[in-house]
Amino acid sequence: MQAKDLLQLAEQFGNPLYVYDAEKIQSQYNRLTKAFSKVDKLRINYAMKALSNVAVLQLIKEMGAGLDTVSIQEVQLGLHAGYAPDKIFYTPNGVSLEEIEEVNAMGVQINIDNLSILEQFGTKHPNVPVCIRINPHVMAGGNTNISVGHIDSKFGISIHQLPHLIRIVENTKMNIVGIHMHTGSDILDIEVFLYAAEILFDVAKKFKNLEFLDFGSGFKVPYKKDDIETDIEELGKKLSKRFNAFCTEYGKDLTLIFEPGKFLVSEAGFFLAKVNVVKQTTSTVFAGIDSGFNHLIRPMLYGSQHHIENISHPKGKERFYSVVGYICETDTFANNRRISEIKEGDILCFRNAGAYCFSMASNYNSRYKPAEVLWLNGEGHLIRARETFEDLLKNQLPLPTTVTTV
Ligand SMILES: *Cc1c(COP(=O)(O)O)cnc(C)c1O
Repeated sequence: MQAKDLLQLAEQFGNPLYVYDAEKIQSQYNRLTKAFSKVDKLRINYAMKALSNVAVLQLIKEMGAGLDTVSIQEVQLGLHAGYAPDKIFYTPNGVSLEEIEEVNAMGVQINIDNLSILEQFGTKHPNVPVCIRINPHVMAGGNTNISVGHIDSKFGISIHQLPHLIRIVENTKMNIVGIHMHTGSDILDIEVFLYAAEILFDVAKKFKNLEFLDFGSGFKVPYKKDDIETDIEELGKKLSKRFNAFCTEYGKDLTLIFEPGKFLVSEAGFFLAKVNVVKQTTSTVFAGIDSGFNHLIRPMLYGSQHHIENISHPKGKERFYSVVGYICETDTFANNRRISEIKEGDILCFRNAGAYCFSMASNYNSRYKPAEVLWLNGEGHLIRARETFEDLLKNQLPLPTTVTTV
C-alpha cells in the first residue's frame, strides 16, 4: 500500500482508522505454505485473536486456512464467518469444563491444557478425539510477557508431568489424536524452535493414535528497523525434513499444523490518526493524536515499538517527537522518535497495526472504537463502521425511577 492510498482512505472514512492490506495477508500465507511445501499434509490455522473482524476471517478462509480459537465466542464468530466446524481448532486456557463440552458439541477440535480438566473430560467423554497442549519449557524470546513456554507459565501441561498424563489417558481410555505446543510469541532462534520440536516428537511417540502435531506459532515479524525476523524459509527447510522423518518413524503421515496470528496480519495493518496538537515543553515536543491506548495498547502494555510516519508531510526535516494520545492517563506511543516535521492536522501512520491492535481496543474514556477498512484490489472496503453514541449506551440501563436518595 502507498501513502497516497492511505491518505485517501483517511479522507474518505475519517480518523482514527485501521486499514488492512489483503494482498499482504495473502503473500504472508503463501510464504508460509511454500516454506513447508515438502510436508504432505500441512494445515495453517489462523490465530484469530490477533484480528477478528469477520471480513478478515472470510478473506483468510478463502486462502484455504483453518482457524485457531481461544474462546467459545471466537468459535461462534468463526462459524458465522463460514468456517466448517472441522476447520476450527479450540485452544483455551483456564476455561470451564462446561465451555469445553459446549465447543466439542459444535464439532470443533478441542485442545486441553491441564490435567484436571483432561481427567474430568476423559472420564465423561472417552471417545471424543482430544488434543493435548504440552509445555516443553523452552524459552522463546527474552520478554517474560510473551514467552509462554518457560517453567512458571500457566499454559500447557508440563512435560515433567508426562507419567501422570499418560496414567490419566490409560485410565480413562480417552482418544488422543494430537499433541500441541505454542512456546511464545517470538522465535528469534530457529535452533530453539527445533529443540522444542524434538521434545514434542518425544511426547508424540507415547501416543499411538495421533493424526496431527501442532507446533503453534511464535513467528516473529519485524516491527522496527534491524529487527530480527523469523527465517521462515530456513525453518521450513529444517523442520519439514525432520517432521517427515518423524512420520516415517511413527509409521503414519501426520498433519503438521501451525497457528500464526501476527505473521499473517501484523504487517498488513496500518493505523491512521490525526495530530490534534503539537505541544512544546522545555525538553520535549509532543505530538498529540486523536487516539490513545484505548485504540492501540501494545506500546503501553508490552513496550512494543510501532514505526510511525508522517504521511501528510513525509519529506519534511526530521525532528524528535513524543507521540502521545488523548486519554487522561499516560499513553505514550513513542518517546523522542525521529519523524518528519509534524504540523497540526497531519496524519500519522502506525505500521504493524494488524495484529493485537483493534482486537485489544476498548471504549476507555468513553471514546468510540475506530472504523476498519480492508484494502482489496486497489479499493478500500469498510468492514467495520465507526462506533456511535448508541454503542456506548447499548446494554446500559438507567437508574430505577423508585430510587430518589441513596
Ligand atoms: C496467540 C496464539 C497464537 C498466535 O500467536 P502469534 O504470535 O500471533 O503468531 C497461536 N496459538 C495460540 C494457542 C495462541 O494463544
